Amino acid sequence: MAEFEPKLIDTHGHVNFNAFKDDGDEVIKRALDAGVGIIMPGSQIDTSKRAVEYAEKLNHPYIRAAVGLHPIHLEDIEVDDSEVEGQVKFHTRKEDFRRAAYEDLLKSSDKIVAMGEVGLDYWRLPEDERELEFYKERQIDTLNSQLDLALDYKKPAILHCRKAHDDLLSILESHGITNAIRPPGVIHCYTGNKNQLNAFLALGWYIGYNGIIFKLNLDNVIKETPLDRILLETDSPYLTPPNAGTERNEPIFVKHVAEKIAEIKQVSFEEVARQTRENTRKVFGI
Ligand SMILES: [Zn+2]
Repeated sequence: MAEFEPKLIDTHGHVNFNAFKDDGDEVIKRALDAGVGIIMPGSQIDTSKRAVEYAEKLNHPYIRAAVGLHPIHLEDIEVDDSEVEGQVKFHTRKEDFRRAAYEDLLKSSDKIVAMGEVGLDYWRLPEDERELEFYKERQIDTLNSQLDLALDYKKPAILHCRKAHDDLLSILESHGITNAIRPPGVIHCYTGNKNQLNAFLALGWYIGYNGIIFKLNLDNVIKETPLDRILLETDSPYLTPPNAGTERNEPIFVKHVAEKIAEIKQVSFEEVARQTRENTRKVFGI
């Protein structure tokens, strides 16, 4: 086999999700043929297992998994198109974080490069004040437990954060992962402001950008993010870049994100590709 030279790495592509259950292998093949590597984060125990299964089965140096429990799966809720664009309405099944189950996965495979995706999601907050407190506490406790596990297994973290950047910052300021794992990981799908950005950068965290940069105007935040701290991602099947020509996002479309970053930062596509590959190597070791 000729040595695979990645052009780009999609550091956040959920080929392990049901949206790809019929053609995941083809989607991955298309990515590899185009020189695109993929890190697949889990969102619950089942999708985490599936990410590990893909990485093990393909046994490719640029197909890797991450495992973790996403904060929206801590509640029983209906997620619909208003919340996640391009998403068929689905009902999430409430899951408690069981450390032993994730620990078994971590022990089972050397292809797991991170804990993720884990984090905070304050998109839909309960109106009742006591419920609200409980809701946030549950997310914060679960995040801390998963960061503890990451630290114990010397893995960086892939962090999800919606409308919760200040709370996330204070957790990362006090959690041991920030100083013990260097770099500690990435704030994926970054949508915070410039002040928060500079605080995350100062703590050593990297910043992930995807197709959301076509939807929200993040140009000034992207300009403020040094190129040597950016990771590229798709968050497929969601957040499809408008020029992709299909509804469902997939890892090959990470090139559109790279093009847009190059345009905003006024550097060449090749420079964005080269530097973000180097950044991915630093954070995830691939
Ligand atoms: Zn994701």
